Amino acid sequence: MIRFISLPQRHKSRDVHRPAKFSVVLLSVVLLWALSACAPMPERNSLATWVPSPNQDMRRPVIIVIHATEQDGVERSLQTLRTRNSGGPVSSHYLIGRDGVLYQLVADERRAWHAGGGRWGAITDLNSASIGIELDNNGGADFPPEQIDALIRLLDDLCTRLFIPRSQVIAHADMAPTRKRDPNALFPWKTLAEAGFGIWPEDDATAAPEGFDPWLALAAIGYPLDHPQAALRAFQRRFRGIETPLSSSVAELAPDDEDARILYSLTRHLRPSVPASD
Ligand SMILES: [Zn+2]
Repeated sequence: MIRFISLPQRHKSRDVHRPAKFSVVLLSVVLLWALSACAPMPERNSLATWVPSPNQDMRRPVIIVIHATEQDGVERSLQTLRTRNSGGPVSSHYLIGRDGVLYQLVADERRAWHAGGGRWGAITDLNSASIGIELDNNGGADFPPEQIDALIRLLDDLCTRLFIPRSQVIAHADMAPTRKRDPNALFPWKTLAEAGFGIWPEDDATAAPEGFDPWLALAAIGYPLDHPQAALRAFQRRFRGIETPLSSSVAELAPDDEDARILYSLTRHLRPSVPASD
């Protein structure tokens, strides 16, 4: 009798507590996984003794990369920028519609996945150093005034709030000239420059002097010269509105006098002024 009663009770007891224990373990594992999944990078380097200082704040972006979505419509791009895609997840900090409506998808202090591989000057991880702005554009259309006005307002806000130098506004194609062509040749860089953003040659720029090296000037501006002709193609698209067809022989592309004139204007302030000789 006792045995008969005790056995079911013991079994019953186990059956009741087993799921409870299992649930606690499962919950702990899930919590630990969740915590580790969203944990930031370790604060401390095990190589060093941790002596924390309160004199710090968040790192800030130092450059802005302009993109064109090369898709049809804001709705489609909002989906692409917020989901896993067949080619891998991508995002940007901002998206501006053709009507000038501005969307933010990633906080300014977070690293959005918009730039990919490439280089600008000494910056090799553009995603870590930049704010990415996508403009709704199918890849071949122009950019309506409403969209550019909204972009200029956003650039003013970002450069003021985050202390980004106003000249540090580049095209996605500038930093990745072998892979990208956005925004397209119709993007109004001169309008942006007149509003105080990016760089643009002087209207009355003179011809480049004898001995001027346009390739060196391209590198001084920031263009990566791993593939020089691709960099020149990106430069001509941005500063001359020339879209060299992919089918043409890019390998034969060389800077002409107009390229040199623009490059000299953009870089001559980087040169030390030579004192006049007596
Ligand atoms: Zn892009």
